[in-house]
Amino acid sequence: MSLKKNKNTIKDIRFKKSGFKKCIQCGRCTASCPAAYLFPDYKPRDLMRRFMFNEIESPEMEELIWKCGQCYSCRIRCPRNCKAGLGVLALQSDSVLKGNAPSEVLLFAQKIKENLYNKGETILPETMGVYILKELGDSYYKKFSKNILKREKLGFLKDDTHQISLSNDSLKEIRAIMELTGMGAKYG
Ligand code: SF4
Ligand code: SF4
Repeated sequence: MSLKKNKNTIKDIRFKKSGFKKCIQCGRCTASCPAAYLFPDYKPRDLMRRFMFNEIESPEMEELIWKCGQCYSCRIRCPRNCKAGLGVLALQSDSVLKGNAPSEVLLFAQKIKENLYNKGETILPETMGVYILKELGDSYYKKFSKNILKREKLGFLKDDTHQISLSNDSLKEIRAIMELTGMGAKYG
């Protein structure tokens, strides 16, 4: 993807707001990035350099962008007020819209839409499988799997939304917004 060729990415305000033109390559973002800690090949500083030099089209980049968890530690630490995560978010959105995202990400996006349409909630523990965390390695996967069991032991239901009373009118509004914005086909 080239910045000149890909008008959608250029127009994506989040990409511009990443502030990649102001980056001085100091590396503070990488030092504070949890994804960089987990994945040795992921460095927000490198991504900012690639944005600067218009090097955002490559199979490597398609993989790298999904390592960012949108925590914005990079933003807090940056002396130039750059937001690497925002640039990554623009690329992630572009990838989802084009259907190029990894299958587990597309599944995750689909589940969020279904949940929103059916219950007015985006993340429901019962439908968001921890299997997605397998990419972090076995020890993380086991740890998070155990957390779900701990949650139930503490008395939380698998699906807390049964306790939330969302009026039919509100649900209708949510569905109307989804349809008007092109976000939702019908899932009911
Ligand atoms: S902290 Fe800011 S200026 Fe430093 S490398 Fe990261 S984005 Fe660039
Ligand atoms: S938003 Fe992404 S790039 Fe920034 S610190 Fe978090 S994981 Fe790293």
